Amino acid sequence: MTGGKLIDDCFLHDKDRLRHDECLALILERLAPMTGVECLAIENACGRFLAETVSAPRPVPLHTNSAVDGFAFAHASLPGDGSALTVGSRIVAGDLAPAPLAENTAARIFTGAIVPQGADTVVMQEDCDISSGGKQVQIPSGLKPGANIRHLGEDLQKGDTLLTPGQRLKPQDIAALASIGKAEVEVRKPVRIAIVSSGDELVEPGAPLKPGEVYDSNRLMVAALLKSLPATVTNLGVLKDDAASVERVLRDAAAGHDLIITSGGASRGEEDHVVETLDKLGKRHLWQIAIKPGRPMVMGQIGQCAVIGLPGNPVAAFVCFLLYCRPAVTRLGGGAWCSPPRFPVKAGFSVANKKTGRREFWRGWLETGADGLPVAQKFNRDGSGLISGLRMASGLIEVAEEISSIDEGDTVSFIPLELF
Ligand code: AMP
Ligand code: MG
Repeated sequence: MTGGKLIDDCFLHDKDRLRHDECLALILERLAPMTGVECLAIENACGRFLAETVSAPRPVPLHTNSAVDGFAFAHASLPGDGSALTVGSRIVAGDLAPAPLAENTAARIFTGAIVPQGADTVVMQEDCDISSGGKQVQIPSGLKPGANIRHLGEDLQKGDTLLTPGQRLKPQDIAALASIGKAEVEVRKPVRIAIVSSGDELVEPGAPLKPGEVYDSNRLMVAALLKSLPATVTNLGVLKDDAASVERVLRDAAAGHDLIITSGGASRGEEDHVVETLDKLGKRHLWQIAIKPGRPMVMGQIGQCAVIGLPGNPVAAFVCFLLYCRPAVTRLGGGAWCSPPRFPVKAGFSVANKKTGRREFWRGWLETGADGLPVAQKFNRDGSGLISGLRMASGLIEVAEEISSIDEGDTVSFIPLELF
């Protein structure tokens, strides 16, 4: 299978700012799965987006078997509640065809061993008295018929669908694939992503810093964020604020990547060249979003390469990465994007004057309130250059467009960072 095709109709929004929901919907709509498919051994497939439907070729488990080490017997054969049975046979896990149970006897059985024909209940060895050198077993009273039995097909019936295309394979899915005997799966190849920062003032960490310069933190942050996604990353370093070099680097990168993520240079200043370059080389789908932080984010495409221009301020770049780059990478990589759940929690802070008409994402964390329930706290400074707030945050507090203030005790929406 080859990659798809991006939808390149122009969608300009210079004056009206796009709402967050519209922006996300547009990104998902304009982007398409672009990566090819490959067959991988399941031990190498965790974290990839699945490209096939997987169903069970046979029931799991294949045989009715014992859930514990103990004794198997027919419940109806018990002479009375709490009576004893003679132990007739012994069945271990891996015995392929145990003999049927002789009438009025019990079989010594081990976890995972096939329950013999004629038996319907297993008693745990710890729960019974064993005498006569293991030849007699006293069944405790009150044991229910059918206890400690794992039935044929109780995990999966033959033909059950386990996994569908677009699912991100988790360790548990690898276990499920192994459990049906599947050694290889068709998965999407990683998304090829180029990352680049832009700004004359940016310096690599490790180099000396002159007045007026700042260390480039966004590129390393984005590279680190991408490690949790199925992506191969080309690090293109820092772009100078001049149109010709921005153009050259973006044009070259577009040829061999599915996505370019830039940071900085996406605003309206004369020193910002990402947007004009995108317009010149390709198509701009959106720019200027009614959110804070992150307003100047831009998204478009150059040929069949998607481009996301993150804002330069590190907090805005981080938030926009979670809100828009993660869904974009998922879509390009053939995954099914699912917005993270928002948890309603009480606010442990007040905000008197939030601007309406834009959605805000505050850096926050949870504490335990006096009643034992979680309370959201907010980093108390707003600057979108303050990496300290990001460092303290374990989640984002999402504040809707129409909200103008929050009182302590109000319910707010909290999104744990791990859920993006
Ligand atoms: P810009 O969007 O280029 O106007 O940048 C906005 C602010 O973010 C400026 O203060 C930049 O110095 C800062 N900034 C831009 N890119 C980075 C980066 N890669 N790392 C840290 N700060 C940055
Ligand atoms: Mg700049």
